[in-house]
Amino acid sequence: MRYGIISDIHGNLEALEAALAALEGAEAFICLGDIVGYGPNPNECVARVRELPHLICVAGNHDLAAVGAYDLEWFNSLAREAAVWTGEQLEPAHFEYLRSLPLRAELPGVTIVHGALPKPMDYILSSIEARQTFAEFSTQLCLVGHTHVAEYWVQVEGQVRAAFAKATAAKVEHGSLFSGGEVKFEPGKRYIVNCGGIGQPRDGNSQAAFGLYDEEAQLVRVRRVPYALKETQRKMRRAGLPEMLTLRLEHGR
Ligand code: ZN
Repeated sequence: MRYGIISDIHGNLEALEAALAALEGAEAFICLGDIVGYGPNPNECVARVRELPHLICVAGNHDLAAVGAYDLEWFNSLAREAAVWTGEQLEPAHFEYLRSLPLRAELPGVTIVHGALPKPMDYILSSIEARQTFAEFSTQLCLVGHTHVAEYWVQVEGQVRAAFAKATAAKVEHGSLFSGGEVKFEPGKRYIVNCGGIGQPRDGNSQAAFGLYDEEAQLVRVRRVPYALKETQRKMRRAGLPEMLTLRLEHGR
């Protein structure tokens, strides 16, 4: 099976459509959350994601914030303003859909969570959080999003195993996929892979970032594609969304 990996769409329909066009060969889809928030097309994005074949989707903090299930105190003022706007726009069926999303899901061999473990809305920003996350799942691969930056961590079992803290004794490597690349899984190693964000990349590259998990070939490939960014910005201005959020799209920050 080949799975399209999509994350952090943030109501950006143009970026989502560009990513899905590039993922045409995918037979199933994994969505890591934040379908809405920041962008001008929350309903259209939820509708588009929901119709994807064999979809497995977990909740992101912005999905839950838009439906009143996440404390807005965690957000800065711009994110809060966008979350309130998004909540007002959502059609009841899409509202209920976002509210029903699980925080964590599992496929054979793959754990799926928005940000980190054990707390799904935490960020993996260093090998410290990566280690904590490794300790909380047992599959070879864990897919995450949330930071909008494509990167990955590898856990290699050390010669010495500490029975009380297996993950701490293991070696954790960290690598960035930047503008695209491939992680090939090797036996005996475990991986946390972030394919970056579709609707609001934050690595200085404005192109949509997403991935493809090839179960048979045992690899994840990260890809980037340009999209009609000016159109998204035009819609954001028309909707009256904060100008800062509109401008950041072209800087990829
Ligand atoms: Zn996000």
